[in-house]
Amino acid sequence: MSLSQVIKELLPGKQPSEIEKIGNWCIKREKPDKLNAIPKGKIVNVYVVIEPLSRLIIRQEQETTDVTVVPSRSGHSLPAILNPKFQSGAVRRQMLTLLHEWFDRAKKEHMDYIDELKKKYGYSKDNYTCVMRPYLRRGRSEGGKAEEVFEGYCGECPNCLIFGYAVMEGAGYNVKSRVEGDLYVSPVPYEKAVVRVTFNAVDDIAKTTYRPESEESRRTGALYEFSMIEVGIPFVGKLVFRDMTLAELLLTLVTLARTTRVGGRTTHFGEIRIHIPAILFSKYEIGGGYEIANRILSKNGTKVPTIEETINEVAEYVKQFEKQGILVLDRELGDRLRTLSQENVDQIVLQAWKDVLVLKKSLDEFTGTKL
Ligand SMILES: [Zn+2]
Repeated sequence: MSLSQVIKELLPGKQPSEIEKIGNWCIKREKPDKLNAIPKGKIVNVYVVIEPLSRLIIRQEQETTDVTVVPSRSGHSLPAILNPKFQSGAVRRQMLTLLHEWFDRAKKEHMDYIDELKKKYGYSKDNYTCVMRPYLRRGRSEGGKAEEVFEGYCGECPNCLIFGYAVMEGAGYNVKSRVEGDLYVSPVPYEKAVVRVTFNAVDDIAKTTYRPESEESRRTGALYEFSMIEVGIPFVGKLVFRDMTLAELLLTLVTLARTTRVGGRTTHFGEIRIHIPAILFSKYEIGGGYEIANRILSKNGTKVPTIEETINEVAEYVKQFEKQGILVLDRELGDRLRTLSQENVDQIVLQAWKDVLVLKKSLDEFTGTKL
């Protein structure tokens, strides 16, 4: 099945001519060319509503037990999820998982995929070893000086060329992320969004004696409290995808929709569902989570909006920018991305991998690095 058919399946409400427009709008990157390295000004604004399915721990530092907040325009404290927690801590991890699963399966069932990536597109390895936390490995010592080698991001997979990576000095060039996040803000004031939960330090769930160091925890001994976001409290935000091919766009959307955890101690908490009620294909970045949260708050007062009401508000907000590009309003999109067939996801990954290897070669040419 071709990718334009996949997008047709994802957006059944769209006319064929509109589907074609979206396909044409995306970047074409068929062969290496240094011009591919130049920004193209193709901005996909992806609006999300994050629905907590279990309680969330969202905090700025390891030590604090409180939730991160931002001030609303009317003076309320609004809980917020910072982008690194969401984008790097959750979505990016999800993409890595998806790619590893794909590669392992392709090696067993579709060796032709891997062969094609290697022979035609220049993928350099037999395996896929991209991991998130680069660590230092002590190399052979030369002249008494230990050589340090960075391992971690591989630099030749969709994860690396979509979310970016940094190299050690002198080892080539850094690649900037083409996904840029926002602040995911709840339109619900702190007092109504947060619950204080007491845990025993030797708790049944974690089986640990870990407890955050604070005045309070010292006072109360083995008991300590966490401030947590209550189930069902919505967060709104937006991600921007830059200069993507159709396959890269679909892969990033599938990953986003399949991201299921965010925040601290996700082994026990932090389960979420991502709703993607609106996408705007445009020339520039439009609106954001803080804007939408304030808008909902000013309409609703401190009444807690349901997920449904929040989705409606996001749709209404984005609709005012309809003339700024191609607008997709579809509250089922997240669900459809989650239930997309394995066969379709496999095609998306394969094409995205080809596309990023073409980009990689284009960047090599552009920067004059090894060819
Ligand atoms: Zn990689």
